[in-house]
Amino acid sequence: MRILMIAPPGAGKGTQGALIAAHFSIPHIATGDLLRDHVARQTPLGQAVQGYLDRGELVPDQIVLDMVREAIVAAKAAGGGYVLDGIPRNMEQARAAYEIASELGMTADVALHLQADDAELTRRLLARAALEHRSDDTPQVIAQRLALYQQVTAPILAWYRDRGILVSVDAMRSAAEVGREILVALEAMRPFLEDTSAPERLPLDLTSLGEAFGATGSAAGASE
Ligand code: ADP
Repeated sequence: MRILMIAPPGAGKGTQGALIAAHFSIPHIATGDLLRDHVARQTPLGQAVQGYLDRGELVPDQIVLDMVREAIVAAKAAGGGYVLDGIPRNMEQARAAYEIASELGMTADVALHLQADDAELTRRLLARAALEHRSDDTPQVIAQRLALYQQVTAPILAWYRDRGILVSVDAMRSAAEVGREILVALEAMRPFLEDTSAPERLPLDLTSLGEAFGATGSAAGASE
């Protein structure tokens, strides 16, 4: 199972990414965590990117793409699955990440989109700020990150919708409910992703998952 997660800050990428990784026994590659780890260790890369993180700006594409190439090579050696969290964040990264993955025979099966509105996202990030003290969880930087998501990240969803791999989930509910819907949707897709030469499997009834598959529903496009 190879999954990209596309979601605004505060939607639950980290939580759900960890759940998916544990469920499918695949590596969870989170660009924000990798970058924050460099900052914490004060590596040369960490020193170079700290300002971008503190201001809620995107770090230069090449830095994250190099990190992601390395992580995908490791994921390939580890069995071939991954859940990628935090990239792509703009159209250039989407194209470049596709090229890297394609060259390695590791393109994504699913682009998982978590949707939530800005008021809820801001509420969650401010609640997290009280507990975690991330340098970018201040009201001004949160507003900047949400605006950047709407401007440069949300537009790439159409690209995955056109490729037929977009799965949208309403992330306004509790982490447990969102997690359950994600795993149900991914499990329902799993038979179609496995060896196509395998004997035909029982057809799945996906009608009740219309919204999870981004087909219909009030949540579709709500935060875009
Ligand atoms: P959030 O989605 O809550 O903003 P992340 O941990 O995914 O949290 O990202 C934190 C910060 O790391 C971003 O604001 C940005 O500065 C940097 N970052 C993470 N991923 C990327 C990426 N793909 N491209 C550029 N910058 C990134």
